[in-house]
Amino acid sequence: MPYRCSRCDKQAITNIKYARLRLCREHLTTYIEKKVESILRKYKVLETTRRIVLAVSGGKDSMAMTWVLWRLSQRYPIKLLVTNIDLGIDGYSRRSSEIVRKYSQELGIDYIIVKLEDLLAYNIKSLSRLARRSTCSMCGVVKRYLLNLIALESKADYVALGHNLDDILAYSLKSFLSGDYISLVKFTPITKSIDGIAVGRLRPFYKVYEKEALLLALTNKVPFIVDECPLRPESSIEFRIKSFLNSIEEEKPGIKIQWINNLEKSLRDMQRNLDVGENLRVYKCSYCGLLSKSSICSFCNTTKRVLGRPLGAELRETIKRIIMVKNSPFI
Ligand code: SF4
Ligand code: ZN
Ligand code: ZN
Repeated sequence: MPYRCSRCDKQAITNIKYARLRLCREHLTTYIEKKVESILRKYKVLETTRRIVLAVSGGKDSMAMTWVLWRLSQRYPIKLLVTNIDLGIDGYSRRSSEIVRKYSQELGIDYIIVKLEDLLAYNIKSLSRLARRSTCSMCGVVKRYLLNLIALESKADYVALGHNLDDILAYSLKSFLSGDYISLVKFTPITKSIDGIAVGRLRPFYKVYEKEALLLALTNKVPFIVDECPLRPESSIEFRIKSFLNSIEEEKPGIKIQWINNLEKSLRDMQRNLDVGENLRVYKCSYCGLLSKSSICSFCNTTKRVLGRPLGAELRETIKRIIMVKNSPFI
């Protein structure tokens, strides 16, 4: 039997059990937009930020995030730069980049699409094979490095990631289970920039359930690539953790939002007590000068080992040129 929206007379399209709300399309959109706006305002992002680089893969989360931030950019003085990295994965990367390009044009947002093969002469599959690393871990190194470079060179205040509430709980639980407690500290809605070497991260969907991000995209006709990356492992740890968390949420609606609220609070207290210089040692890579966990960053280390020389500094020059040639009004 169709139900009425809890906030108007229209028919509800979803039942948000943990909030005891049945919402129509319009009120679902407002509900999610408010969640995003409130987390960004809480950390004073909308008042103090000028430039945000958006990491957009073409999937539902990053595309829905693009739409929400674009709407916020109509009301706040923030400039957006959509960034997509074409990893050269069979037809998948080309299709994803195309969706990102078309949608950025449709919304009138500046965008940059960089092709890994143009930059390094290898796609992600060949690079990881040469480096003898799993494709996903190599992919993580390359994406993090490129996003940071693009954000630094375009003088952005933040890189916005499309991670939703379910992703963050799964990543943080995985870090906890593997004993990597130091990494836990980064799963906050916002991390700060480190002058000249790393641009801070934003997670605007920190309190948005995966299901809500999907509904937001579908009901607002936000295009996205439906198929998963073909290189994704069949049953990743994150996937199993998510299924486990979903089964608990089914029994106890709201447990996930309660956990993410607790995580946010505990990490904020931890961050306050941590002296970054002492406890989380920050290094500058001796080749490229960017943030590193030791004297050489993972990117320079891998390219030196696999391709014969560390390529970070060269890549930085290339990215600088791409941004200059594009002559984006973002800059
Ligand atoms: Fe990269 Fe792995 Fe994600 Fe594919 S599944 S985009 S290879 S991290
Ligand atoms: Zn309504
Ligand atoms: Zn380096």
